[in-house]
Amino acid sequence: MKIACIGAGYVGGPTMAMIALKCPEIEVVVVDINEARIAAWNSDKLPIYEPGLLEVVKAARGRNLFFSTDVNKHVGEADIVFVSVNTPTKTRGVGAGKAADLTYWEGAARVIASVSKSSKIIVEKSTVPVKTADAIEKVLRRNCTDPNVQFEILSNPEFLAEGTAIEDLMAPDRVLIGGKDTESGHAAIATLAGVYEHWVPKDRILCTNLWSAELSKLTANAMLAQRISSVNSISALCEATGADVQQVSRSIGTDTRIGPKFLNASVGFGGSCFQKDILNLVYICETVGLQEVANYWHQVILMNDYQKQRFVERVISAMFNTIKKKKIAVYGFAFKKDTGDTRETPAIDICRGLMADGASVCVYDPQVEDEQIYQDLGTEKFEWDHPSPRSRPISKTAIDIASNPMEAARDAHAICVLTEWDEFKTYDYQAIYDTMVKPAFVFDGRNILDHQKLRDIGFIVYALGKPLDP
Ligand code: NAD
Repeated sequence: MKIACIGAGYVGGPTMAMIALKCPEIEVVVVDINEARIAAWNSDKLPIYEPGLLEVVKAARGRNLFFSTDVNKHVGEADIVFVSVNTPTKTRGVGAGKAADLTYWEGAARVIASVSKSSKIIVEKSTVPVKTADAIEKVLRRNCTDPNVQFEILSNPEFLAEGTAIEDLMAPDRVLIGGKDTESGHAAIATLAGVYEHWVPKDRILCTNLWSAELSKLTANAMLAQRISSVNSISALCEATGADVQQVSRSIGTDTRIGPKFLNASVGFGGSCFQKDILNLVYICETVGLQEVANYWHQVILMNDYQKQRFVERVISAMFNTIKKKKIAVYGFAFKKDTGDTRETPAIDICRGLMADGASVCVYDPQVEDEQIYQDLGTEKFEWDHPSPRSRPISKTAIDIASNPMEAARDAHAICVLTEWDEFKTYDYQAIYDTMVKPAFVFDGRNILDHQKLRDIGFIVYALGKPLDP
């Protein structure tokens, strides 16, 4: 059997590496039009940082795992084609700002149709709107000239989380496969399930109809983001009342109906998926006339924006309502720990909000490349969604990047912790405090530091969703 995967990104690379590792008899080729990305996958400096990924890739690469830019050849030869291309939010035209942009998906489908000389199973690995399989089927059927070639489309959404991708792929909570309720649909499901059964217990492989599988992925991301927005909304109430959000989270998380995961208050969710998938869900609801349902889910995003804005306003008001010309050290820029990914990271809006008020930020992140930070922070005018008198252009000189935490904090008035990197807990904060302007503030946007210890050193500490300094 030969598998090809179109798209060598955060999903295509790790998922195919795991399949290749666990199924040595299957040839797996990951193809991409991005030459630099493929070259990186073929080197020891992979294009993405993910704990344990290099070891998995090295174990299978050259044996039965290959990375190539020859899309036509490998897709043409494959029995199963995974499509794991990006499905960002549309930026122009009908549905701009909400609908999923399926340009890359449609492009991939046209390539599959034009190069296929044999029947294939086409697997939707990307997150797509419900009913996408219908549209893709039309593109495939009408563009393939060989009448003997049949395509069976399956939905097999990916649930891995960045930062724990290898653990998640090694022992998934479930593998979801959606297909048609026909003889050929059942056969295709059985073939794909057979691949996963090399390492995933059978009772963890769930089979559904196509539309349920497509919708389950959007729903899963919407509900995960909703939990974060829910607990963040409570963090605001905690700050206003003297309750402690960590105590509240622990108290409710012990209820088995609620469970303890995803209850950490934070500066907000980020990553390439949550916002885009909720917007996509909102758009789908609107197009089928369910405006109230659309409004319900949209509120999850509004709450996330509010949390970021609230954090910045708290920093400003704590620092005597002026941060002009003050240096603020930012610890962490990635949207979560153990990844170098900055897509939709809350750090972007927070840094830009601080700079718009006149502060200069000095960012330290153990994994994110300097160029990425400069690119993300940009220099165009920054405006919160809810316009504020603070919105104004940002000067590039307000951005600095440090190669270590000490350098970031030297001569700074405050430290903002924006990512929950474990190493932030291990620093010598006395030494850091000694180099800072006094009073020195810590704004812990992830509640990961030892606040009492910091207060004993002399810091003024603002923890998220917790009572202020006594
Ligand atoms: P990505 O941008 O990292 O990778 C997509 C890759 O597809 C790019 O390298 C791009 O060059 C390539 N590509 C696009 N069109 C192509 C074509 N016609 N031929 C060959 N290559 C092409 O994206 P990602 O983060 O891997 O996400 C892929 C999909 O998986 C998205 O739909 C996303 O929503 C979903 N998803 C992502 C995650 C995650 O954690 N990142 C988790 C689950 C699901």
